Amino acid sequence: MKLHIVVLAGDGIGPEVTAEAERVLGTVAATHGHNFEFEHQLIGAAAIEESGSPLPRATLDACLASNAVLLGAVGAPRFDNLPPNERPEAGLLLLRRALGGYANLRPAISYDAIKEASPLRSEIAAGADILIVRELLGGLYYGEPRGFSGTNGDLSAKNTMRYSVAEVERVARVAFSAATNRRGKVTSVDKANVLEASQLWRQTVTRVARDYPNVYLEHMYVDACAMQLLTSPKRFDVILTENLFGDILSDEAAVITGSLGMLASATIGGQVGLYEPVHGSAPDIAGRGIANPFGAIASAAMLLRYSCGLEQEADEIEEAIRIVLKEGYRTLDINSGGSTYLARTAEIGEAVCDAIAEIADRRHAYHAV
Ligand code: NAD
Repeated sequence: MKLHIVVLAGDGIGPEVTAEAERVLGTVAATHGHNFEFEHQLIGAAAIEESGSPLPRATLDACLASNAVLLGAVGAPRFDNLPPNERPEAGLLLLRRALGGYANLRPAISYDAIKEASPLRSEIAAGADILIVRELLGGLYYGEPRGFSGTNGDLSAKNTMRYSVAEVERVARVAFSAATNRRGKVTSVDKANVLEASQLWRQTVTRVARDYPNVYLEHMYVDACAMQLLTSPKRFDVILTENLFGDILSDEAAVITGSLGMLASATIGGQVGLYEPVHGSAPDIAGRGIANPFGAIASAAMLLRYSCGLEQEADEIEEAIRIVLKEGYRTLDINSGGSTYLARTAEIGEAVCDAIAEIADRRHAYHAV
């Protein structure tokens, strides 16, 4: 398969972690006979310095013409005093909107080798593997009417949680398809006991579920879900929810993994998929070669799965991550034991590539028998 991937390394540790994700994609291409072309473009502070804009036209055009976009992180303290629409972070918001993805996917996985990194007791978190599918373009964040009204003594503010059937249906289909390739269960999270928008959500999801007879659907109120994520995370496979609930629940679910550096994300459904680790530019550790690249590497796996349909290649990257963690490779943020050798960002990228090459050798040996 030939793929054109735009890499937006961005700021701080962004270039350090995306370099490793790119290296891993290169190894996958070599071991599977694919041709992945990488085009590098600027975003964020790096782009402001070069062109005055956090999202230059050339970057946006390149992204729109690509098969997928891999992003590092944006943000730099030296631009923190600029107005919000001129800051590096504005580039990312503009890009997300231009690409038009309506489904944000965030896995929350308890990796056995680093289960102590989670603040949850390991008998609770160990083995948890959840995919949160969050609706991204609707609900309270975009609903009209919104805004302030009245004056000083009588000031009020409002936002509107609004969903159409079509908006719920399209994101529900993403969740059900994902569940088909996982353990076959969708938990749809709403507040249908109080909100009409949630009642429409529930009716629509129930109807969509009929098209996926092999997927088990359950409904859960958001307050119950917030508790169960921490008390019995293993009961979940795919969680499907609207924008605000998903924003909160996906951060909560991150405690299962234990470190921001491990978390990957995908935004799909639009013209082009956007794949990025969840963490920011981490200026406190930037330039030292010690950032955790696993989140960026896991985002590259999602890119292959969701934008290119390369399920086996994605699985192999995820297996390689588990192997390297099991071998004891740790960055500071996941070194909860305190005694393990601390690996540099590039060493981890190399180790993941070695593991992928070993998986490929095993695959070839199996097919040769
Ligand atoms: P951050 O995620 O950059 O860092 C929070 C803490 O986690 C820091 O101590 C950092 O060292 C650590 N950390 C983060 N990623 C790590 C990794 N891969 N390996 C090891 N440690 C890691 O969040 P912040 O400090 O609140 O924000 C810094 C800048 O990043 C700000 O300018 C912010 O606006 C921006 N930001 C960007 C994104 C994005 O690009 N998607 C997301 C969040 C924050």
